[in-house]
Amino acid sequence: MLRVGLSGGIGSGKSTVARRLVERGAVLVDADQLAREVVRPGTDGLAALVERFGAGILDAEGALDRAALAARAFADDGARADLNAITHPRIGALTAQRMAEAPADAIVVHDIPLLVEAGYAANYHLVVIVDAPVPARLRRLADRGVAEQDALARIRAQATDKQRAEAADVLLDNSGPLDELTARVDALWDERLVPFERNVRARRCSAKRPLRLAPSDPSWPRQARRLIARLRQAAGDRAVRLDHIGSTAVPGLPAEDVIDLQLAVRSTADAEALVEPLAEAGFPAAFPGAVTDSHPFAPDPADHLHVAADPGRCAHLHVRVDGSPGWWDALLFPAWLRADDEARAEYAAVKAELVDRQATDPDHGGAAVAEEWFATALPRARAWAERTGWTP
Ligand code: ADP
Repeated sequence: MLRVGLSGGIGSGKSTVARRLVERGAVLVDADQLAREVVRPGTDGLAALVERFGAGILDAEGALDRAALAARAFADDGARADLNAITHPRIGALTAQRMAEAPADAIVVHDIPLLVEAGYAANYHLVVIVDAPVPARLRRLADRGVAEQDALARIRAQATDKQRAEAADVLLDNSGPLDELTARVDALWDERLVPFERNVRARRCSAKRPLRLAPSDPSWPRQARRLIARLRQAAGDRAVRLDHIGSTAVPGLPAEDVIDLQLAVRSTADAEALVEPLAEAGFPAAFPGAVTDSHPFAPDPADHLHVAADPGRCAHLHVRVDGSPGWWDALLFPAWLRADDEARAEYAAVKAELVDRQATDPDHGGAAVAEEWFATALPRARAWAERTGWTP
């Protein structure tokens, strides 16, 4: 099963995207609908609201009168908190129940307007945000009969576009006509969601891609933050700390487009206990049952390598014991490259040569070139740490 969080500001086209995803086969969990379900007549949710706010919140039929409730619940912060304390846990439980009821091979789309505001992004394998400029949103909402003042008030109360972009693994542009949006949703479904779900279910890493250097991308740290939040949630108390490591953690350095992450755990037993939760969260073990020393500069018997199942975001997760030599070096290396311009330029040149050789001699590649450089680089990095007093 794949959990996809879907959100966007009012009028962005979120419901339109949800409908298309359902047409393609997604199982929809609609947050607005669940919010209504938990206070339907006859529910204990409605009973709790009446007990707190009085029978005046009911209409003649005994159903919830939303305007009457709003008048009482939004009067002060205490009343609002009481309202949330009654509804939020019930909505949460129903959401969990609906997700659990979905078939094992489902792509579950949670359509939730306040995903970003509620801080839920880490709950999903992928967060999709629908994005459109405010004037277009106002125009579309006006066609639907929403007054501009009301729409603007809602927009101001919601998260900003920047906050949503920070949470978005996928930013779906809906500034153009509807058929363009539909094409984008279809591509997302076919090329990313379907293979991602299959990979998660099969505990399979996404396919390895040929070695290729990309120019430094300023969004790499932001992408790493999102993955780290997700992995922290999956690892729970077993995570001592999570860091963005490797070349994409060094601003300005051309690199393979791979987000390298390191999860520090207390023991090898904890690393083994995390194999299944990490796989479920979209990071299956690359060598199930085996341990690797995957990098020449940081050989470590306790490196458990996990590779993202997401075909749209190549990411490697090294699970290492907190304080071990491999853990330390993996943090030291990017810190040194960030601090030392000359070392960074050298490393960029070594990488370029590595890629070159890989192209002309794929069997032997440029691994030896890199290993040779690492052999001299690591002592220099350690000397730098000693000189500057750097610690992880
Ligand atoms: P949201 O759920 O984000 O509030 P909706 O999906 O309901 O937004 O879209 C708001 C309105 O705009 C709807 O009437 C929808 O049909 C219309 N709409 C959405 N996308 C487009 C588009 N690309 N072009 C024109 N109208 C659109």
